[in-house]
Formats: sequence, C-alpha cells, structure tokens
Amino acid sequence: MKKVILCKYGEIVLKGNNKSQFESMLLKEVRRRAAQIGSFKVTYSQSTVLIEPLDGEIPESVFAEMYTQAKKVFGFAGVCEAACAEKNMDDILRVAAEYLPEKIKGAKTFRCTAKRSDKKFPLKSPEIAALTGGAILAAAPWLKVSLDSPDVEIRVEIRDKEAYIHAGQEKGAGGNPIGSAGRGLLLLSGGIDSPVAGYMMAKRGMFIDALHFESFPYTSERAREKVFELAKLLTEYTGRMRVHVISLTHIQEELRDKCDEDYFTLLLRRFMMELALRLAKERELSAIITGESLGQVASQTLPALCVTDSVSDIPVFRPCIGMDKEEIIAVSRKIDTYDTSILPYEDCCTVFTPRHPRTKPVLEKVLREEEKIDRATLIEEAYSSKYSVLVKQFDNNFENRF
Ligand code: ATP
Ligand code: MG
Repeated sequence: MKKVILCKYGEIVLKGNNKSQFESMLLKEVRRRAAQIGSFKVTYSQSTVLIEPLDGEIPESVFAEMYTQAKKVFGFAGVCEAACAEKNMDDILRVAAEYLPEKIKGAKTFRCTAKRSDKKFPLKSPEIAALTGGAILAAAPWLKVSLDSPDVEIRVEIRDKEAYIHAGQEKGAGGNPIGSAGRGLLLLSGGIDSPVAGYMMAKRGMFIDALHFESFPYTSERAREKVFELAKLLTEYTGRMRVHVISLTHIQEELRDKCDEDYFTLLLRRFMMELALRLAKERELSAIITGESLGQVASQTLPALCVTDSVSDIPVFRPCIGMDKEEIIAVSRKIDTYDTSILPYEDCCTVFTPRHPRTKPVLEKVLREEEKIDRATLIEEAYSSKYSVLVKQFDNNFENRF
C-alpha cells in the first residue's frame, strides 16, 4: 500500500498575490530535507504539499524520518500520514479496510469525514464518509462511532490525482517559511532563553545568523562548543545558521580596571549591541534578536533595556519579553535545546559580575563611564577577532572548521 505525507498550509492560505512566493519557499525547504533522507517527489496543490516516496514502498524508518522532518518546516499548520487509493469507491474502501485497523488499534471510537476537492467525483462528501465508516466498522468491529468526541478522526480526501485516507492530522511547526520575513542577527548565549528567541523569530519566517561573545580565558572551550551545539539544534528548524564569534576579553578587562563596578553589565551589553549592529550591517541583517525577558535580571529592567537599545538604530526583537521563565523552558524542551542549555558552563556575562548592578540606570551616567575607556579602539579590536562558522542541518562536520 502506498503511503504519502500531506502537509497543510498554515497562514499562507491567507496570502494574496504573493502566495506563490511563499509556496515556492515551502517547496524548496521540504525538498532540501527530503533530498537528505531518501527519494521523494515533493509537489503542491490545493494548499497542501504532498510528499510521495518515488519507489512506492520504502522502509518505515525512512518514511518516519521524512514525517519528523515535515513537522519541523515552518509554514504548515498540520501534517499527516495518509494511505493512497484510486479515485473510485471500491478502492477507497479496500484501502481503508487494509490501512486503518492497524493504524488506529488503540482507539475505541471514531468519526469519519470526507472532503471532495474534485467536484467531478460521483459521490458527495457525506456519502463517501458513510460508506467508508461502514467499511471501517466491518474491518475493526471493536470500534464505535462517536460524532461528538471521537478518539480518532478519519478523513477521506478526494484530490485531483488520487484519494487519501488518514487517521488524524498532527500539528505542524506553524509560522511562515524561513526567509519569507527578512534576516536577523540572534545574540546567542549558552543559556535557555536565546535559543528560544531565535526559534520564535525563525518561526515567523526570519532567516537567522547568530553572534556569540566569548571571553577567553574566563570562558572555556566547552562553553563555546555548547553554543555551537545549540546552533546545530536550531538548524533542525532553520536549515542552516552562520555563527559568528567575537572575543570580549579585552573589553571586559578594561571595564573591570577603569569603570564603576555597578555599571559593568550595562556597559558590556552596550558593547555587545554595538558589535552586533556592526555585524548586522555588514551581513545585511535588518534586526537584532535577544532572549531578554522583562525584569528577569537587573540588565532587563525597562530603564536598563532603554540604555542598551539606545545604541541600536535597527529594531531589537525580544520575543521572550513577556514570557515567564517556565514558559520559555516549555518552548526550549519542545525544540530540544533545554538539556544542552542547562549544561553548567560560564558565559561572558557572568564574568566580573557586579555585586550591586544598577536596575534604574541613567543614560548620562553610563555615557560618563564610557568616557573613561577608549571605546572606538576597543570595538575595532574586538571586531577584528571575529570568526564565522556555517552550521548546517544534517552536517556534523562543522566542528572541524574552526
Ligand atoms: P539566555 O537568555 O540565553 O538564557 P541568560 O538569561 O543567562 O541566557 P542574559 O544574561 O539574561 O542571558 O542575557 C540576555 C540576552 O543577551 C541573552 O538572551 C542573549 O540574547 C544575549 N547574550 C547574553 N550573553 C551572550 C553571549 N555570551 N553571547 C551572545 N549573546 C549573549
Ligand atoms: Mg535570560
């Protein structure tokens, strides 16, 4: 029996004249993944991307891997596995009886609905559903029909070339296709919040580069590897990510030696922002993304965020700003970054942390502190330490490219 994967569009169905651009991005993204997994034909019609194995029946593990990948493509509201039948009732009932009993063996109740995109099909949707429901009851006599709250929803779709029978659709990744909403620069620490922030903006369609700041010898090789591992995990959704690394060691030492301790973190964050801005302009990235959440720590109070933001003349997106830590953790578990994020390696932000950080900083005082150091030269020097690595999904060799 031939099985396929149906991926149903999300917000794209609402697009107007530019819908086809979104569709070709989706198709490209599914094809990129499919090419790594096996031989699949990927086409679209009627607000659905169809993934079919080219060689008919393929190993279940290969099909399952393709299904998992389809669920990570931004732009789909739902994904389902379906059995294919010819477009006649005999074949539809035959396939339903063969495919469904095994597929839904844990269920006690079901409902069957049908959708006829091909209006030339001789039976109407309620008739198709009733006949298929009867065939299911005959093949799986333990089942009962429940129209209100069935354990499983069986659906027959009569489309242009074939009919498809599936036992319920799972949620897709949602959002919009990668690259459809511009390009941004994610400030990626080794923590929990920033990978979540990157995922959330990528989900809205942003293509993302990442920038990580390190501070050797105060931060370690392990801390850097952890960040690359997080970037790799994000590529499960984004496909690829260029990770840039800049050293803040000298800047931090200068701040420690010359500036008011209470302002260390804020001054450092302004340096980070300035360096990010420079990189964003060089790489033509139109926004900076951080994992900040309002009030989470001293540098994330509203006055502190204002002081940091005043450096940037491009938008700073903070998708976690209104989320509690618990909510951020739930997303990080969902996208599988949590276990890596909690590995206990130091971050440059925790080097020389002030004992009494300012929660209500005044910009004038911050600017006076900055006059005590040679800001321009320090930025130039830090920027020249930058190196970049392209991290790609399905490619584990990025470690060798340092
Ligand atoms: P995370 O927010 O990733 O969990 P955190 O909460 O410990 O880590 P904060 O000190 O709260 O990090 O920093 C707030 C934001 O600043 C981070 O979400 C991240 O976007 C950015 N940031 C912090 N440290 C770094 C770093 N070493 N490199 C790049 N960006 C950083
Ligand atoms: Mg944080």
